[in-house]
Amino acid sequence: MSKVKKKVTPGRERMEKIVSLCKRRGFIFQSSEIYGGLNSCYDYGPMGVLLKNNVKNSWWKSNVQERDDVVGLDSSILMHPQVWVASGHVESFTDPMVDCKECKLRFRADHVEGDKCPECGGELTDARLFNLMFKTFMGAVEDTSSVVHLRPETAQGIFVNFKNVQTVSRKKLPFGIAQIGKAFRNEITPGKFTFRTREFEMMELEYFTYPEQSEECHQKWLETRMKWYADLGIKKEKLRLRRHEDDELAHYALSCYDVEYEFPWGWSELEGIANRTDYDLKAHEKDSGKDMKFFDEERKEHIAPFVIEPSAGVDRSALAFLVDAYDEDETPTAKGGIDVRTVLRFSNKLAPIKAAVLPLSKKEPLPEIAEKIYKDLRKDFYTDYDIKGSIGKRYRRQDEVGTPFCITVDFDTIEDNAVTVRFRDTLVQERIPIEELKGKLKNLLEL
Ligand SMILES: [Zn+2]
Repeated sequence: MSKVKKKVTPGRERMEKIVSLCKRRGFIFQSSEIYGGLNSCYDYGPMGVLLKNNVKNSWWKSNVQERDDVVGLDSSILMHPQVWVASGHVESFTDPMVDCKECKLRFRADHVEGDKCPECGGELTDARLFNLMFKTFMGAVEDTSSVVHLRPETAQGIFVNFKNVQTVSRKKLPFGIAQIGKAFRNEITPGKFTFRTREFEMMELEYFTYPEQSEECHQKWLETRMKWYADLGIKKEKLRLRRHEDDELAHYALSCYDVEYEFPWGWSELEGIANRTDYDLKAHEKDSGKDMKFFDEERKEHIAPFVIEPSAGVDRSALAFLVDAYDEDETPTAKGGIDVRTVLRFSNKLAPIKAAVLPLSKKEPLPEIAEKIYKDLRKDFYTDYDIKGSIGKRYRRQDEVGTPFCITVDFDTIEDNAVTVRFRDTLVQERIPIEELKGKLKNLLEL
């Protein structure tokens, strides 16, 4: 089993296989599938929710828990309507749209070449600006005075709480506020599986700094964020930083970089890291009439901080980690055939299930011993227990969800109080005494 030959599949075929695996193994389902699905909405199954939680926990750990200059926040999705006026979203968070007068399809004007409908060749309307914020009504009356928006980013919840958080945390510049949460954008052309969806989750950090230090601070965050992806095992050659051209900068940004991953369809953004200047705090100060400055006790002056914002998509990151982990092995079988093994090579930190305990036979005392090991391991990390089917099939199931360690309890276990641990990537098998098992696994998992 040592000679492993890589099989290369073209991008489209590869993506189809990943989407199919996601459904088969419970990572991602189409939302409302029994009713035909809802376009661009997805649900995370038993494996998907674990993967996503691991992504979020890793982000929180490295950006909040392990730093002394960042604190957390969880602000509400619905906010005062004036927030989105002050932030510029009501005015500027728009895409130019054209409608086909024949088939009624709507397109982004910058995605259409010429003046005819790309679907039916019909005549198009003039371009109109279409706001990407979802609207709903708050309270009993549905009129313009009760309109609220579903937030299109979590950042504004951080800006409006700047003074609250700074006061209670007693942080001095530079310091950051981090938040993970859902956001909504009424994208006209969602697509590419969970890459562009109208409902999504973000991991955002607003890092407040002295204006004169903001560019240096921006550079540091670029390095920090690139390292995060690399540390979680993303292939370095599939990851790059791209600086925004001046004409693609958002209305608030002085400069911006995208962290991009090379998906099977090409390079696409995982995270934007922008210098938002003092745009947001100043805008809220002006609109609310409340002081949004930081009082610097050493300098004895009121400062309007600049903001560096690393803003990452949870769903996009999770998809990138999935795509990056997907692999197929080919190994010759004893009978002279070829055995294809599908395996997700997740880093140990991201693997939804860390270990699986598999009794070789249903004959006692094997299940009893195995269950005891399983119940002990799961106190420390996600562990699976599987007794159904041949051992080969059970290994396959674990490979397909990326479980790094399979633990087999066999008849020798009764005599030697040891188990066989099979390593997912190397397929090496090692005999380990039961009493040393948890310690060894925790070491390997870096827990
Ligand atoms: Zn048309």
